Amino acid sequence: MRPCRLFCALFFMLGTLAVQAAPALPRHAPVPGGVAVLELGTAHDAQPAVSFNALPQPVLRHQGKWVALVGLPLDTEPGKHSVFVEGAGGQRTLPLVVREKRYPTQHLRIADGRMVTPPPELEARIAAEQQRIADWKRHYTAEPAPDTRFDLPAAGPRSARFGVKRVLNGEPRSPHGGLDVAVGIGAPLRAPAAGTVLAVADLYFAGTTVVIDHGRGILTLYAHLSRVDVREGQALARGELFGASGVSGRITGPHLHWVVMVGGAAVDPELFLPMK
Ligand SMILES: [Zn+2]
Repeated sequence: MRPCRLFCALFFMLGTLAVQAAPALPRHAPVPGGVAVLELGTAHDAQPAVSFNALPQPVLRHQGKWVALVGLPLDTEPGKHSVFVEGAGGQRTLPLVVREKRYPTQHLRIADGRMVTPPPELEARIAAEQQRIADWKRHYTAEPAPDTRFDLPAAGPRSARFGVKRVLNGEPRSPHGGLDVAVGIGAPLRAPAAGTVLAVADLYFAGTTVVIDHGRGILTLYAHLSRVDVREGQALARGELFGASGVSGRITGPHLHWVVMVGGAAVDPELFLPMK
């Protein structure tokens, strides 16, 4: 009995270590709205600093190597780009070829004119909120190292996919910067991985919103909530309840709008989820 117990305990410990040492990385998708996963060399050297579009990008230790996750904004032009790396050997530039990706177009008709064109007296509020969202996107903390294996934060089918081009009452609008999960009002929302609550806010379009900082420029945002159970600065474990879905903000029906941000860019959340 005793050797088996020892062996089992050792096996369990090794298993735990292996999971900690090798977190799953997002899928390599060098396209607008994707994430480029770039190997930078062995992790014996000090952690290099990586930037793209003058913004710091997450660098993780993965299977004995440093790996950069470069967040590519949806408006990135396909073609040749440069990623800047500063490490033990000095500065260098890595070439990055961004491939074209065609996202589908969705035509929507909305009867409530305030959702299509907000009244002029709200312009200042909306501009201030857009600045807040831009600041969250660029938020960068060196520690902790993020866990990039995400769970879907709500139990529901994925409805509107990331990147869909939207035409609202015949007028082209910004493409869909998140993934929608079809859930009713009051469905529990759970942290997709460990993190810290960066912000709880009430926004004109997004309604009641929570932002979670996962570390090193990886953040997630949740919009249209009916309830928030956390406060700013609170640490969350993977799977911890932080609120409930709803219909707050300017939307036609309840759902969760989930945004994943990497190094200042909103990217496709499905790259961080296990393959279906
Ligand atoms: Zn959405």
